[in-house]
Amino acid sequence: MNKRGLILVISGFSGVGKGTVVRRLMEQHENYALSVSVTTRPPREGEVHGKDYFFISEEEFSAMEAEDRLMEWAGYVGRHYGTPRDYVLGRLEEGRDMILEIEVQGALQIKRKYPEAILVFVAPPGAATLKERLLLRGTESAEQVEKRLSRAVEESGAMEAYDYLLINDELETCVSQLHQIMQSEHRKMNVNRELMEKIKTDLKCFVEGE
Ligand code: 5GP
Repeated sequence: MNKRGLILVISGFSGVGKGTVVRRLMEQHENYALSVSVTTRPPREGEVHGKDYFFISEEEFSAMEAEDRLMEWAGYVGRHYGTPRDYVLGRLEEGRDMILEIEVQGALQIKRKYPEAILVFVAPPGAATLKERLLLRGTESAEQVEKRLSRAVEESGAMEAYDYLLINDELETCVSQLHQIMQSEHRKMNVNRELMEKIKTDLKCFVEGE
């Protein structure tokens, strides 16, 4: 097994239930850790600073960006969101698979900087389900729901840049498929170079030693 963790980027339209998929994945498997983003949007009811997000001001956000402390960042419906670099890189070194639940602009930045990152797009079984879920969630005003749906139209154009498409129809199936994807990614030759080199060297030693 390669020792360093992998970056798993999860995106999907607002309201698709990607947060629930990620929570369930982490409940079932210990090897994942979630990146906590910074955002300039106000907290929703029940959201906790440092757990759901670090809620910061526009000035603080600009300072983090200027100091190159963000792995990626993007604007979304009038607010800024970004991934703090140090925490993510530290956990990867410890061998954790780091989950970044981010929108598409940020995902594409990650893929450019870290080509071995795995990009998964979560989609609903149909567009109508999405609108229904967004309205049922009731956390956004009607105007915000409309904006989020328009953003979904924009985001659908970027789906093809992702490595995998997951349909969130039945939760447990979706979670298990996501875990299987990660298991396969860990077995790829290009993330196991160190191990391959060691096997090659050891084999040579055996042969030369004979
Ligand atoms: P929400 O306001 O619903 O929590 O998040 C809005 C969108 O921003 C979601 O698509 C979410 O995945 C995305 N997002 C959350 N954190 C980050 C981040 O650090 N970077 C980027 N690029 N997007 C983020």
